[in-house]
Amino acid sequence: MEFRDLKKQYAALKEDIDRAMTEVAASGAFIMGNPVRELEQELAEYVGVKHCLACANGTDALTLALKALGVGKGDAVFVPDFTFFASAEVVALEGATPVFVDVDPKTFNIDCKSLEDAIRSVHDHMTLRPKAVIAVDLFGQPADFASLRGITKREGMYLIEDGAQGFGGSVKMPKAGGDGFTVRRACSFGDISTTSFFPAKPLGCYGDGGAVFTDNDDWAALIESYRVHGKGSYKYDNVRIGLNSRLDTLQAAILRVKLKAFKEHELADVNKIADYYTQLIGGMTRFIKKEILITPPYVPEGYTSSWAQYTIQLSVPSGNGTFNREVLQAKLKAKGIPTMVYYPTPMSKQTAFKEMHSFALTPHALELSKSVLSLPMHPYLTREDVRTVAEQLIYSI
Ligand SMILES: *Cc1c(COP(=O)(O)O)cnc(C)c1O
Repeated sequence: MEFRDLKKQYAALKEDIDRAMTEVAASGAFIMGNPVRELEQELAEYVGVKHCLACANGTDALTLALKALGVGKGDAVFVPDFTFFASAEVVALEGATPVFVDVDPKTFNIDCKSLEDAIRSVHDHMTLRPKAVIAVDLFGQPADFASLRGITKREGMYLIEDGAQGFGGSVKMPKAGGDGFTVRRACSFGDISTTSFFPAKPLGCYGDGGAVFTDNDDWAALIESYRVHGKGSYKYDNVRIGLNSRLDTLQAAILRVKLKAFKEHELADVNKIADYYTQLIGGMTRFIKKEILITPPYVPEGYTSSWAQYTIQLSVPSGNGTFNREVLQAKLKAKGIPTMVYYPTPMSKQTAFKEMHSFALTPHALELSKSVLSLPMHPYLTREDVRTVAEQLIYSI
């Protein structure tokens, strides 16, 4: 069994992917060929925003967002302490200061109470301007953007959505007029939102890729410039310092095929698999004699995850036992079941950030880094596979 079976996906989509790749090879338009614009239009339409700009990877997508918003030296950017390194790395790379905020122990996403504490603490410190929040849709589940928007509005801050893992997730929200509900998709919640097409993400390509989303025409124009060396209207007049960060035509062509499968069945399939995991793990936990509590992922009412990861928490509720996650992983591996720990170290404990001033306590991030375990998850897992993982998990504890 594979943790994320990309070969099985390729086998299912082979005919269309092979044709798409061959067409690009024959066209010779390897940089900014037609499939790039076509993909951008399809992505913007699916997400429900005006502009989508494809780029080289999800990290650059965040960098492009920060550049468009003018984030730099003296700015505080609030980032969850429990995420992939890139979410905070980009902030430091722009010369701004990442301020680590604790996460909600149930959803794993940025915690608004901790964010309020961190903002207050930055105000008191008086050396930094609170400038933006980067909220991450961790493991595929959108962050609490309704609450976050209230805070960023009040503080005059920008809201950036790091949807690298979130593409395809959604939230049912009351309509703006107050009449009924509407479903909003991930990558539409930020002033600028980003995603990644790294192969293992919910929508992945065959190498590196990413995209930026916004409704704002001015920021879209800036990002368009920044992604090609800060180009002006005349190609060889560069008006700002930018990046070389385009999405290859080949990747765009592959993504168009994969986006179709994602919309038609893959997103629905991972949700069925997640439900089955939760049903089995939730049902079996009662029979464990040993004092280990398995908590399946929590999806709040009205939220839909795109299941970049299916991540359980393992804990010893009595507090007097010990539990070795590595031993469990080794036992599962021996049974042919790969598992991963996302993430074993909070941002604030990373070597690269160890000199950073701490503005907020992040106990939940630390606790999660010790207790989480991600199980095999992808749209081509069978019910049999899920049953095997769930059973072996229970037997191996
Ligand atoms: C993967 C990831 C990124 C970076 O995307 P790349 O395409 O690998 O550069 C950023 N943020 C989060 C939360 C991610 O999971």
